[in-house]
Amino acid sequence: MTAPPLTAIPFFSPGTFADDRDALLDTVREIGTGDAQKFILGEHTARLEQELRDRLGAADVVACSSGTSALALALTALDVGPGDEVVVPAFGCAPLASAVVEVGARPVFADVDPVRLTADPAAVEALVTPWTKALLVGHLFSVMADMPAFRALADRRGLRLVEDSALAQGGTLAGRPAGLWGDAGVYSFVPVKTFGMPGEGGVVLTGDAELGRAVRMLRNHGQDGVHRFVHHRVHRGVGRNSRFDEVMAAFQLRRLPGLEDRLARRTRICDYYSRRFAGLAGVAAPPVGGDGRFPYVYTVLADRRDALAAHLAAHGVTAHVYYPRTLPEQPAFAPFAPPGARWPNAERAARRNLSLPLYPHLTDAQAERIADAVCAFADESGEPR
Ligand SMILES: *Cc1c(COP(=O)(O)O)cnc(C)c1O
Repeated sequence: MTAPPLTAIPFFSPGTFADDRDALLDTVREIGTGDAQKFILGEHTARLEQELRDRLGAADVVACSSGTSALALALTALDVGPGDEVVVPAFGCAPLASAVVEVGARPVFADVDPVRLTADPAAVEALVTPWTKALLVGHLFSVMADMPAFRALADRRGLRLVEDSALAQGGTLAGRPAGLWGDAGVYSFVPVKTFGMPGEGGVVLTGDAELGRAVRMLRNHGQDGVHRFVHHRVHRGVGRNSRFDEVMAAFQLRRLPGLEDRLARRTRICDYYSRRFAGLAGVAAPPVGGDGRFPYVYTVLADRRDALAAHLAAHGVTAHVYYPRTLPEQPAFAPFAPPGARWPNAERAARRNLSLPLYPHLTDAQAERIADAVCAFADESGEPR
């Protein structure tokens, strides 16, 4: 046994914004003392939207108060509402189901692909009924969902397609950025995301300018940007407050030029883990191959997941179980699940997933320590490589 390491490697880096502290304080001063005294939906927000639009080749990018809010705005703008069904994956984060419930529609849970862990197109199609209005599929950890299949399915069945790309900023599949396969997609800017910031916020992105206009109205109480205090309906929905903060917009504009480098650093660490974990007994790495991969979180699957997590903790590595149970097993969403229904791949994913630290500030030595600890667990479990 080697001596325990002195400091544990945290799962979330406390150093995410360490290099940007002066930039953050400068930004607060600039907006706080600026002549305009404009703190919400001002010129910085508009410029951030424009920069992202140009980079992505989107018809519109609309900044709003969170990734979760972005999903609900997109659903309302696509006329999803009471009486509608929306097929969502059974495994993933709560907003996949809660955004549907929030707009008054019913989430219908589909099982996931056992390797990608994203929604299985055949399982989704089997759940389409005359009441289905939309599909809401999400990318997970570091793997994009099978968007060509979902785009084709939505087109074939006349359904709207919302892409929960909240964590997939920087990913592309067949040359198309994550978020632009759906009629609408979203990004989240919470601190841990690939384009995170020290606050709450997100965007809706779309290739449909008309849809973008609807989202713009919805995020600001249904106002059209011309007449103040006239509150329009958008389909069956009304506007809400999902506006964006100017300090955060100015900060994101400063950080945008460094995004590619930070993504590249994350990708190098992902590739290193994948090389180290190839062929490991008892621990399955995410599917490798460049297209449709993005470096958000590196998640392995292990039958002895809790033993692996304990082993890593003993070796000074903090790992994280993202989703310990499926969405239909959650108290909030169980009422929407048909009694007795099962989602075998989602249930297995919930039992086996474990995410490893992955962030640009992780040093090569830390990445090596993490990989060593995972490999030692596989060796100690005694199965042949
Ligand atoms: C982070 C995340 C969200 C929610 O974004 P918030 O900005 O935290 O509301 C939604 N979906 C997925 C897949 C996410 O990773």
